[in-house]
Amino acid sequence: MLEDNNTVRLHRGNSMKNKYSRSNMKKEAKSIIVFLFCFSICRAAFPQLTHAEEDPFDQARSRMVREDLQGRDITDEKVLSAMGKVKRHLFIDTSLRDSAYNDHPLPIGEGQTISQPYIVALMTQSLNLKPTDKVLEIGTGSGYQAAVLSELVDRVYSIEIDKKLAKKAALTLKELGYQKVQVKQGDGFFGWPEHAPFDAIMATCAPERIPEPLIKQLKDGGRLIIPVGSTTFYQTLTLLTKLKGGTQLKQISPVRFVPMTGEVEK
Ligand code: SAH
Repeated sequence: MLEDNNTVRLHRGNSMKNKYSRSNMKKEAKSIIVFLFCFSICRAAFPQLTHAEEDPFDQARSRMVREDLQGRDITDEKVLSAMGKVKRHLFIDTSLRDSAYNDHPLPIGEGQTISQPYIVALMTQSLNLKPTDKVLEIGTGSGYQAAVLSELVDRVYSIEIDKKLAKKAALTLKELGYQKVQVKQGDGFFGWPEHAPFDAIMATCAPERIPEPLIKQLKDGGRLIIPVGSTTFYQTLTLLTKLKGGTQLKQISPVRFVPMTGEVEK
């Protein structure tokens, strides 16, 4: 009998415990659901905050903007903001990531280089872009400059002569969500007549003389920024403005770019 009573008490105690832990588990599950819900709302509402926390290069990029761009003559707020947004480290080989935000050019494969951030910013700033502009870039390379341009304008068309680089850049831009950029493999000497006229054109490879088709494909009032020169050591960064059919040239600074190859060499 005694044993039976004890057994009964024991059973009751266990069922009480079970009830207690079941309700506790329910409460915990509820809190976890509420937490996950709030977290996903915050992530959606403030992507830049959660993103910044996840980006180990955030500080390096801010330093680059502050010291290497603002510290020199890059004053256009929109250009500074675009340079602060685009993750240069994702356009280069992983082994080079630690130097992604230093102000110098970096190799991108196939014997080509990505320009130093200051030159990317200077060329972008000199085009004086409006959000509605349609821009053509000659020399996609890694796709980094095209990504910077796409932060500022509506549409970016970019031509790369090297098959491997064109394919890789198109994939990188797609994976990073740069939907406004369209890349094609071809010789940029001929421009992209199907999408002309352009508000602005940027060449990131250097011809000895400015290709005529590029001037033709500019709108009236359109700007072309291009390194021009015959040596492999340096060229002159030149800004051409098309005005009433004529052209106005302004020399900006000495620069060092890889040569434009293809038709322009003939
Ligand atoms: N803007 C690039 C870097 C450009 S490097 C970036 O942000 O990464 C210059 C590029 O111009 C090289 O990839 C080279 O293959 C390409 N190029 C050279 N001649 C060209 C031509 N005629 N048409 C298109 N691209 C050309």
